[in-house]
Amino acid sequence: MVEAIGVRKVYGHNVVLESIDLTVEAGEVVSLLGPSGSGKSTFLRCINHLEPIDGGEISVNGSLVGYRRAHGKKYELHRKDIAKARRDVGMVFQRFNLFPHKTALENVMEAPVIVQGRAKGDVRAEAMELLDRVGLTDRAGHYPSMLSGGQQQRVAIARALAMRPRLMLFDEPTSALDPELVGEVLDVMRGLAQDGMTMIVVTHEIGFAREVCDRVVFMDGGVIVEQGAPADVFNNPEHARTQAFLSKVL
Ligand code: ATP
Ligand code: MG
Repeated sequence: MVEAIGVRKVYGHNVVLESIDLTVEAGEVVSLLGPSGSGKSTFLRCINHLEPIDGGEISVNGSLVGYRRAHGKKYELHRKDIAKARRDVGMVFQRFNLFPHKTALENVMEAPVIVQGRAKGDVRAEAMELLDRVGLTDRAGHYPSMLSGGQQQRVAIARALAMRPRLMLFDEPTSALDPELVGEVLDVMRGLAQDGMTMIVVTHEIGFAREVCDRVVFMDGGVIVEQGAPADVFNNPEHARTQAFLSKVL
């Protein structure tokens, strides 16, 4: 579903991603762990082409995103290719960024109607199903300001799902929430994983990574230091950097 080969990203003189190789199979749930500044968010943004890359290749569901190298020269892909790859990807951020002047239902309906030009009636029915899936049927008519942080984040997940993505990227989706609201968001994500969604999740929720994820990838300083099954990485980290990080978060 995702194939990243030799991905490189620089900001000025700062090499933020250095030769990242990562393959994620369809249906796989991968958590991305690492200290602040290790490049986790940047990597997710590159997968979704919110950031161009400076080297390597990324493809999502067979379509390239980012840049392709030809004869040693860099070419940006045609806009249509990028749009095709991005259509397959839903993203949920730490901050929910819902449209404040739209209800929960309208937030979920926005992109399929405006971007995809789908019929409102169909989209409304599907949006109600999605709100049901995240446990918010009774909040469909509420504005974001009338919802708790956990409810807003669940609307944000439903909104991403409304585009029928094949891959979901989560960047610390529970970090901005009060502790008592974290569980309801993780439950929705667990349900998605059980339904077979391909997911890459940046999170500090080690319990979630251990129980729900198929694989844990530990990044530091723009490289993948180690990866493996959660039980292996958490119980027997191989590298000193992984051990040091885990000793702080476990
Ligand atoms: P955190 O756990 O704090 O979210 P992260 O692993 O997500 O960290 P990134 O946000 O990907 O880390 O940042 C990686 C590095 O890239 C950092 O050194 C950061 O300062 C730098 N960086 C990120 N975005 C930009 C940008 N738009 N311009 C310049 N430098 C950036
Ligand atoms: Mg980040």
